[in-house]
Amino acid sequence: MSIPSALDGFHASSILLNSKKRWIVAAVAGDLLLATGYGVEPQLVMSEEQADTLRYFREQRFCIGQWQGDDCEVWDLLPEALKCDGFLKLELRSVLMQSPDPYFSIASRAVQLLDWRKKHQFCGQCGKANQIAETEHALICDSCSIRQYPRISPCVIVAVTHGDRCLFARHPNWPENRFSTLAGFIEAGESAEQALHREVFEEVGLEIQNIRYIGSQAWPYPGQLMLGYLAEAKTENFVVDGVEIAEAHWFKYDDLPSVIAPPTIMAGRLIQQFVREAEGRIAD
Ligand SMILES: [Zn+2]
Repeated sequence: MSIPSALDGFHASSILLNSKKRWIVAAVAGDLLLATGYGVEPQLVMSEEQADTLRYFREQRFCIGQWQGDDCEVWDLLPEALKCDGFLKLELRSVLMQSPDPYFSIASRAVQLLDWRKKHQFCGQCGKANQIAETEHALICDSCSIRQYPRISPCVIVAVTHGDRCLFARHPNWPENRFSTLAGFIEAGESAEQALHREVFEEVGLEIQNIRYIGSQAWPYPGQLMLGYLAEAKTENFVVDGVEIAEAHWFKYDDLPSVIAPPTIMAGRLIQQFVREAEGRIAD
């Protein structure tokens, strides 16, 4: 089956091709087990042969789509699988921080679908056990005919700029030197743009303008979809809310906080975009 080249080989399909070859992604309690070998980087997506010893610890398996044209399964494993040689356990977050697309998507999808299945075992209306649909990623209540699909929660994330500076905020439970861009869930009934205006105003009391969409990314905690933007603050002075944000500061593009997100995740991508544009303006 051919897929658009922009997808880089991963097709997040719910259809099982029953291909002869299969790829395996191994998960243990929400984290990932990567295959290790001499002289090669740990591998998130492994062949069936590489994953063979793990099958004894398999609690459930299902197809999450196709990788390089062949079916790709997630295996949810018992913790005893951690004793197997030739594998390295990595926290989901650390895999995401290091992984470019499409590995980012594969890791997100595998863990997100496992988590969704675990938390939607029963019908929300009548309480009976849900059944797993055979033809798509859905859970079905036979008595009310309700279909549950993986829940995706859209969020906005925004780098607020003022000239050659960007606003970085620290959450109350973060270490002293860790700062990031502002973000929040889109409320029911709201557009992404309304959520941006509201979140920024609630968290730091700033009004914004010239909102520009930069891109989106899945963030499986548990099913967020981050919509990333750049926006300009109308004024310089802000007031932190003290609840969601402990402190915030303007940082010049060439003097950013010491701990910021890598460009593999949306916050880092926005920061990178801001820096590029600020440098471009200086060069002009
Ligand atoms: Zn029901």
